[in-house]
Parts: sequence; C-alpha cells; structure tokens
Amino acid sequence: MDYKFWFCTGSQDLYGDECLKKVAANSAKIVEMLNKEKAIPFEIVLKPTLITQESIRRTLNEANSDLECAGVITWMHTFSPAKMWINGLRELRKPLCHLATQFNDEIPYDTIDMDFMNENQSAHGDREYGHIVSRMGIERKIIFGHWAEPSVCDRLAKWMRTAIGIVESSHIRVCRVGDNMNNVAVTEGDKVEAQIKFGWEVDHYCVNDLVDYVEAVPKGDVEALVEEYYSKYNILYEDRDPEEFRRHVAVQAAIELGAEKFLKDGNYHAIVTHFGMLGGLKQVPGLAIQRLMEKGYGFGAEGDWKTAAMVRLMKLMTKGMEGSKGSSFMEDYTYNLIAGKQGALESHMLEVCPTVSDGPISIKVSPLSMGNREDPARLVFTSKTGDGIAASLVDLGTRFRLIINAVECKKVEKPMPKLPVATAFWQPKPNLQVGVEAWILAGGAHHTAFSYDLTAEQMVDWADAMGIESVVIDENTRIREFKNELKWNSMLYR
Ligand code: MN
Repeated sequence: MDYKFWFCTGSQDLYGDECLKKVAANSAKIVEMLNKEKAIPFEIVLKPTLITQESIRRTLNEANSDLECAGVITWMHTFSPAKMWINGLRELRKPLCHLATQFNDEIPYDTIDMDFMNENQSAHGDREYGHIVSRMGIERKIIFGHWAEPSVCDRLAKWMRTAIGIVESSHIRVCRVGDNMNNVAVTEGDKVEAQIKFGWEVDHYCVNDLVDYVEAVPKGDVEALVEEYYSKYNILYEDRDPEEFRRHVAVQAAIELGAEKFLKDGNYHAIVTHFGMLGGLKQVPGLAIQRLMEKGYGFGAEGDWKTAAMVRLMKLMTKGMEGSKGSSFMEDYTYNLIAGKQGALESHMLEVCPTVSDGPISIKVSPLSMGNREDPARLVFTSKTGDGIAASLVDLGTRFRLIINAVECKKVEKPMPKLPVATAFWQPKPNLQVGVEAWILAGGAHHTAFSYDLTAEQMVDWADAMGIESVVIDENTRIREFKNELKWNSMLYR
C-alpha cells in the first residue's frame, strides 16, 4: 500500500480571509518542507484549513474511508474552538498526531503587533484542541517543537512508522503449521482476544499441507535457489562431504519455495513451526525460515504465534527504512555473568533473521538434537552492534501485556567456532541485573521480537493504540518503582 498522511490545519473564521490565506500558505510551506525531508517516510497531503464543525467531520470521515490514509496530522495554527472538533474526532478511526508547532520560530520583537499575535497563536490553539482530545480520551501522539527542527522531523517520521503498525496490525494473518509446544506456558495465548485487540487472524494447518507444497516445488527451481545460496553465502563444509552438504541445503531451498507459495496462496504474513510436529518435512525449517524472515515474513518458533505476529509487525513498521539494521525473532539463551562483560547471548536453534547480521553470512549443516530429522542447513553470522529493543507480548489470562526492553548489542569477546547458529549478544538496560529482574517480574518470555530500527516509544504508542498495557525496561528502570507500576497497571487494565 502506498500510504499517505493527511495534514489538517485547525483555525476559525474570526480573523478574516486575509488571515486564513496566510494560514493556508504557512501550512502549505510546512507540508512542502516535510515532504522534501529524507527522514519523512511517507507523503504528507495538505487538506484545506478546517474552520467549521461540518468540514472537520467530513474531512476526518474521508480519512477513515481512504485506504491509503494511514493517519491524520493536526496543527492548530490559530485558535480553533474545540467543540467544533468533537463530532469529527469521535468518528475518527485513523491514528492521530497533534503536531504542536508554530510557523515562526522566534518572536519578531521589533514588529510584533496584535494582528501577528492573532495569526500565530499555536500556543493558545494547541491547548484548546489538546483539551478536547484529552477529555474525550482519544489516543494521539503529541509532537512539540519547530517544524523545521531535525528532531521534530525525526519524531514525526517515527510516529508515521508507528501509525503504519497501527493500521497494518489488523491485516496480519499468522499461519500455524503446528500447535504451541506442550507444557510451555508463556507462548500460549487467547487467539480470539488477539483478534479483538490487534486484528490478527491466527489460523492452523496440518504441517503435511505445507509438505505437499514443498514436495511440489520443481527440481529446477530448487537447484536455482541452491545456486543463489552458494553464490551469496560462504559455504562451511567443515568435515562434511560436499555433495551430502548440498543435498541438505537443497532440502531447505525446497522448504523456502514451498512455504513461500503456501503463505502467498493463503495470504499469510507470518508463520510458526514446531520441531515436534514436522510431519513429512525432512529437516526442521532453518535456513528457509531465516530467508522468509528476511523477505518480511513474521516467524515464531514452537508455535509462538504472538511473537510471529510481533516480528511481522516490526517488519511492517521498518519497511523501506533508510539505514535499517534489521529485525528478527530472538531467544534469550545464555548469560555472561563476568563483571564488565555482562550480557545475554541471543539466538535460536536455527531461526535468526539475516537482516540483523554484521559481516559475512555462512551456511552450515549441523546436527540438531531436537526434531528427530536430518541435520538441517542454517545461516550463521553474528549481529550488529548498537541500540535495539526486544519486545515480548504475553497473555496474563484476562489481558495482554507488552514488555519492551531497551538493549545494547555488543560483540562477544571471542568467536564461538563450535556454535552452529547465528547469534546476537546484548546488554539489557539499565544493566543485566535490573534488566533481567524487571523482565522476569513482568512475566516476559524467552522469545522476543527484536529490532535495531524501532524505539521503545514507538512500541508503547502502538500498545496504547491497541488498548493494552505496556511496560518499558530502560536506563530509567528501578525495581521498586517498576513493581509499583505493575501493581498500578493491574488496577487499570482488568
Ligand atoms: Mn524457542
């Protein structure tokens, strides 16, 4: 979808046509500048200045019915009496941003008169408009600052990506070819409630429905994809026979092609597998799943459909992003508890998305004790350094909670030559001890949706739009306050 955002300026007719002409011209200039900004990921469309209840209601309803409109940016250039906004806002179903800005950045001390004040009174209009949005309890993003400031553009750009997550959430369709792993609690959840809250459709198939697709992939297509793998990735034979190695890789190529067709035919955007329910699959899907994630599909292992949908959501929110560092399914595996070198090694038995890789990517074929099948081929690499977020959506029985941890990814001190999986290594904020204690207190899972390209603020805004609880573990987290926050939240979200 070629998403666009609408720019709606609020005013009134009290100040005369001359003033309204200037308001419209100023709005046009802001929109023109924002559309030229590289950071702004989607086109912003200027709408006529809104000065009556009728025009506000009509415009916001047009936004509702325009499939390309992913959100409405509002700006109060002058004073816009907010009762005019009530009916329109009550009916608005698109993400809403209040850009609390002002056309001029400095008070023109030498020339300022009452005409100028009346024309440039965002400080006044923003409060009147903000009051009614708050009184009506409508979720919106408030972004304050001069419109030409890079930090304002950056925050607006981030909110636009959050808005994509909000409008796209209800299009996420997850395909399960296996149920959740027996006896595991944290990956479970209420699929009906997930559809009510997030719009996600979570369906189930027999894994052998997928196997039929895998077996139907023409040999030539498999061979061509294997060739692509061999040209793109390093091949780490280690002690394996090259022909046997290639046969194992070809199994994953067939799974990639078969699964992709299976997902496309069913209009699915995320998939879960389960190593205990492989049916006629010859290997646990490894390299195949890694490549599908790279193409933008969501994934969750062991039937974890909540994380699969969250990974898909992150892929949507970061699509086409300049300088993207990647998003992936992850799992907390092993700690390093040595002072000064603390962190958690992140990986999975196979399935880490290559978008997070740093440097060369290699193919390995190694035994896997789980799954009782052939040794699966997989992509191995280490991940980039820098800030990211790990998110876990858990079902607390009567409601969902999204737990978001700001993490700093680092390089491990030494290579791990015997570990045949892709990895990341991160230090949770504020530090390993508080980060882990808070995560466990909040009931966060071992599976996460991870991204270098999103912020905790974006995920909180998304959760607020979905009407669910979110908690952030970051540099400001202290356990005593965090425990209280969880207690207070339990009163609010019942
Ligand atoms: Mn797992």
